[in-house]
Amino acid sequence: MGDTDATLELACELIRRSSVTPEDAGCQALMAERLRKAGFEIEFLAFGEVSNLWARRGSSAPLFVFAGHTDVVPPGPLEDWQSPPFEPEIRDGYLYGRGAADMKGSLAAMVTAVEAFVSQHPDHAGSIAFLITSDEEGPAVHGTRQVMETLTERGEKIDLCVVGEPSSAEHLGDTIKNGRRGSLGALLRVHGRQGHVAYPHLADNPLHRLTPALAELCAIQWDEGDEHFPPTSFQITNLHSGTGADNVIPGHAEVMFNLRYSPALNADLIREKVTAVLESHQLQYELQWRHSGEPFITPPGKLVDAMQSAVQECTGVTPCLSTAGGTSDGRFIAPTGAEVAELGPVNATIHKVNESVRVDDLEALSRVYRNILKHLLV
Ligand SMILES: [Zn+2]
Repeated sequence: MGDTDATLELACELIRRSSVTPEDAGCQALMAERLRKAGFEIEFLAFGEVSNLWARRGSSAPLFVFAGHTDVVPPGPLEDWQSPPFEPEIRDGYLYGRGAADMKGSLAAMVTAVEAFVSQHPDHAGSIAFLITSDEEGPAVHGTRQVMETLTERGEKIDLCVVGEPSSAEHLGDTIKNGRRGSLGALLRVHGRQGHVAYPHLADNPLHRLTPALAELCAIQWDEGDEHFPPTSFQITNLHSGTGADNVIPGHAEVMFNLRYSPALNADLIREKVTAVLESHQLQYELQWRHSGEPFITPPGKLVDAMQSAVQECTGVTPCLSTAGGTSDGRFIAPTGAEVAELGPVNATIHKVNESVRVDDLEALSRVYRNILKHLLV
């Protein structure tokens, strides 16, 4: 393959390594080998069953980081795939395989972008690093979160960070994610007393207590959002109660809910407000919270401006800024004060069968990434 196929070739190599979370399956070693040749110092940081790669070139500030993950979600039923998920195949201008868009295509583009950039600018300003984990799609405990703790302990401070998550909606580069909402989930168990529907005075129906409380929670206007964020949303995701019989008052009820919240709120405020509502309805309950991410925002500035210009120059597309979507590992990097934003391929097929990326977008993404480096480090 010629030079123009370098990104495609590397993406295929990565897809062939079946790195279902938290497996890395040799992806990081492959990337490290390429980066070492480009003058990077390589460090493998293994925590638990998770592999992490920290590769750095240069020692001065600003420190620019490409962040991403080598793990992929399971392929699901193999018979639903048109070609085997870990055997990359090109059909009609698309590369198919698990991880093609999320995010082995981006990883390949980062590596080839850096190779081209350092050969052109061997004495670039600042430093470039890669922070790659195999634990983004899983519990995300021993991955980026723990690498960030290690870096912070030894005083290594990230200034600028591009995460390669597939941010684009329809065309490569049409969307840059410059922040994410926070995510707070809860499991609520409400206790009552089981009994015969004909003798309600001998029972205590937990649903009759719970449902008005839920209605009140659903009706709360948590905030109005702001220029960067939509209003905070409260969503009930699961509701279980009853024995299946129509003559039994249930003994308890269980409900799960999740809030996606903006920086106008914080997890403590939400917990307080929810608890106050539950108390006001005199529920007997247990409540377990799961806080999976603080919100973050990187307003237009050095990083976002460079990313927008780089996309425009390489593709002609004007990117819009968005904070929609799920959480990402950016939530662990942003709290250290780094400017963090996400830019990657079209996300239409991620986590689905027949995941794919447009072949032409791979090389284009590599050019965009290289151009970002030019804007920031030359
Ligand atoms: Zn991803």
